[in-house]
Amino acid sequence: MTWPRSVRARLAFWHGLALLAVVSVYAVAVLLQVRDDLYEGLDGQLDGDHALAAQWLQRGLPASSAAGSAESSPRDNEGRPDVPWIDAWSLDGRLVFGAGRQPGLPSPEGPPTSWPHTPRTVGLADGAHVRTLIRTATAGGRTLIVRVGRSESFVRQELGEFAAVLAFSLPFAFGIAVGAGYLLARRALAPVSTMTMRARQITAERLEDRLPVENPADEFGQLAGVINDALARLERSFHALRRFTADASHELRTPLTAIRSVGEVGLRERRSEAEYREMIGSILEETERLTAMTDSLLMLARADSGKADLRPTSVDLGGLASGVAADLEVLAEEKRQHVQVDAEADVAVTADRPTLRLAVINLLDNAIKYSPEDATIRLVARRRGSNGVLEVIDNGPGIEPEHLPHVFERFYRADHARSRTKGGAGLGLSIARWAMEANGGCIEVESEVSRGSVFRIVLPAAD
Ligand code: ADP
Repeated sequence: MTWPRSVRARLAFWHGLALLAVVSVYAVAVLLQVRDDLYEGLDGQLDGDHALAAQWLQRGLPASSAAGSAESSPRDNEGRPDVPWIDAWSLDGRLVFGAGRQPGLPSPEGPPTSWPHTPRTVGLADGAHVRTLIRTATAGGRTLIVRVGRSESFVRQELGEFAAVLAFSLPFAFGIAVGAGYLLARRALAPVSTMTMRARQITAERLEDRLPVENPADEFGQLAGVINDALARLERSFHALRRFTADASHELRTPLTAIRSVGEVGLRERRSEAEYREMIGSILEETERLTAMTDSLLMLARADSGKADLRPTSVDLGGLASGVAADLEVLAEEKRQHVQVDAEADVAVTADRPTLRLAVINLLDNAIKYSPEDATIRLVARRRGSNGVLEVIDNGPGIEPEHLPHVFERFYRADHARSRTKGGAGLGLSIARWAMEANGGCIEVESEVSRGSVFRIVLPAAD
């Protein structure tokens, strides 16, 4: 037998089998009960037969009773199942009445006084069965052992017919149970079929489609809900990936186009050495931009694949801030800006030093880039509960509220024109955010247009 592949068919089969088992147990129980009832009825009849026989024998035995003449019998079974059969023995084992009335019915073993008094079934040589009851009775002052019997053919026939009806109806019951189970399973599993059909239509181009949820509270509804959530996450990452690819190619294209046009212009006619120098300088500038961008992209790609090798140690935030400030001093000086470091003593955090440094460099670089000349930029390191906090505070142009939630996204630039001229590709803050999250911390921003911005990194304190 090949095992049915569909859940529906398997459910129907098991449903049928379970029902068959229950019905079979029930049928056997009913059959046993009916049998008990039938035998109880028969035994009751034998009881009555014995009482009648005892009454009759009390009136005295006929002289020829031992010969067993037809007239001597109070009743004559003559092979009819509804007529009882009687014989009687003296206590010393002599048959005193009914001899030969039931050919083939054996006498019980041993002396009559030891014969059991409970009703029992006796098999005849011809295969028939007789139910007998043996009890004592008195006849003319004598104690006799009287046996009454009735054919079991009626009881057996009834039982046989009943068993046959049950046996024939069981396969039908099984068939009906399988059919009903199949319909039931089909109805119950209908949402799965609908979900399967809909899921087949969901492709990379149609990720916005969702599975139907008929009843969010039931198991299928919950399953569809979970799959829909997964689809939503997939759709978001897919879109992010697409946007990232588009943005990355766009960003890489811009400096490449610039390099190409500078080269083409340079080749078009003879120029002075100074002009060539200027052209090569701008090509180098664009190349630097390209290098910085590909480095950032590489770094993010490594971060995404979880291959970044982080070694957390205890880092003094104040010391790190002073180091970064000293490194970027040249950039600030170009704009006559002043970078001030205010650090509480011993604010140590647990983090991978190079990634933490990279994040702080990106934040300070932005503050220098976007703040006007002569501005003061502050780096403040302090403790906040069980965390160490480093804030990069500037009085620059600030960020519009509608841009604020997006500044940490890749390639996001609040002000395209402004950032472009300042050389950013919109990757600095996403790298800073990754660096913080990879170190078990977070990054926050507060900003007000025309008043400045505060970028805050929060990391678990080292002790
Ligand atoms: P970019 O390389 O363009 O600076 P970032 O990811 O570092 O990219 O920053 C994203 C955007 O957030 C920037 O384009 C800029 O518009 C805005 N931004 C970041 N830092 C500041 C700041 N200190 N002041 C004003 N705007 C900022």
